[in-house]
Amino acid sequence: MRVKFWGTRGSIPSPGLRTLRYGGNTICVELRTDTGQRLILDGGTGLRELGRTLVQEADALDLNILISHTHWDHTQGLPFFAPMNRPENRIIIYATSGTDKDVMEIFTQQMDYANFPVSLEERPGQIAFREIGEEEFTIGDIRVQSCFVNHTILTLGYRISHGNVCIVYVTDHEPFAPSLYHSNRVCPDLDDIVHAGDRRHVRFLAGADLVIHDAQFTAAELERRRGWGHSSLEYAVEVCVAAGVKQLAFIHHDPDRSDEELERLEAAGQAYARQLGSELKVFAAAEGSEIELPETGIALATPVLAQTPSLDTRVHARILVVDDEPAMMQYLSMVLMRDGYEVLQASNGYEALTLVRERSPDLVLLDVMMPEMDGFQVLRELRASEEFQELPVIILTALTAEQDIVRGFEGGVTDYIDKPVTPAVLRARVRRWLVSRENR
Ligand SMILES: [Zn+2]
Ligand SMILES: [Zn+2]
Repeated sequence: MRVKFWGTRGSIPSPGLRTLRYGGNTICVELRTDTGQRLILDGGTGLRELGRTLVQEADALDLNILISHTHWDHTQGLPFFAPMNRPENRIIIYATSGTDKDVMEIFTQQMDYANFPVSLEERPGQIAFREIGEEEFTIGDIRVQSCFVNHTILTLGYRISHGNVCIVYVTDHEPFAPSLYHSNRVCPDLDDIVHAGDRRHVRFLAGADLVIHDAQFTAAELERRRGWGHSSLEYAVEVCVAAGVKQLAFIHHDPDRSDEELERLEAAGQAYARQLGSELKVFAAAEGSEIELPETGIALATPVLAQTPSLDTRVHARILVVDDEPAMMQYLSMVLMRDGYEVLQASNGYEALTLVRERSPDLVLLDVMMPEMDGFQVLRELRASEEFQELPVIILTALTAEQDIVRGFEGGVTDYIDKPVTPAVLRARVRRWLVSRENR
């Protein structure tokens, strides 16, 4: 399998003398198998140059683009993607919506008259959209597994396998907890990961030959930018080491990061992996660079047409918010109602349990520190009942110590979010558990 980086930058294109070596285009990666099949990951501004190359290569193209999420830096190249302008070309765009608009509406809007001179429907190419969530599907004989990661809008990571080669693409993603492992473990293993979200993330990367992972920040920068939805280089190295990955290409470089700074980070990332006792190879993805991952002993599957179950992200759900602080209750309710959810309110544990039984909410957002009956007790009551074993319960609390997070998961909580929470993170995490009822 060949991997080529057409764009490596996060947030906004940053061309100029400071970014010559690693590139200024936003994120776009091309994968090509030994059998000549191609997958495109994300459509940042790097997609434009890839499109120019593709139209010179063949008269009729069959292209599949996997979009992680619909933020600008991952989609801005699409209006300029030359293959869209030829009727012989077939393009399928896979994405998850994350809002009350479906994927096709989002891209139609991107190219509507106010934003761009040529609309999507005026493009001669055969363009189709597949709305996906967490699932497994095939494109030709490439196997794709998608998994929600932790960003400010619903975002998918992709695990791509062909023959014996496995590549995982994860951007944009923020660590679920401040540290990966319990602080008191000497030789930690997978079970010693503090937050269930991080544990699941490591499982998704497990054993990959190459992980292309968000590392927009350093650990110190991430401290100041919690809630922005990005990883630190240290975290990217830690999860790859924990997952037994062979190579880490870190990507989604901060637009302010110069070539010299990226070179220093590359050395620091590599040194950190060694310090953790790992053979992991760490490097910064550079625009225009290519990697070859040898494929051997490939059992060719019969090519099948891409088929994915449709996913309705326009979720109309009922959410119970449990919080004893009126200002917090008002804030949370307002954020959720803006997404069209019906909101039930409880200001203590007893009220919460009554409302769960009487009104059957689809999800519970649960504060911990409340008078009389705290959130952990509510959780225990709920999980003790057969009926509410599967009900998504998200703890939202200012109790951010490791032992509290562990206590939450041991009590059967679905997810654990630190207060204060930004509206974007709250919306993304709630929607994530509403659209994906599996793998809790
Ligand atoms: Zn991004
Ligand atoms: Zn983003």
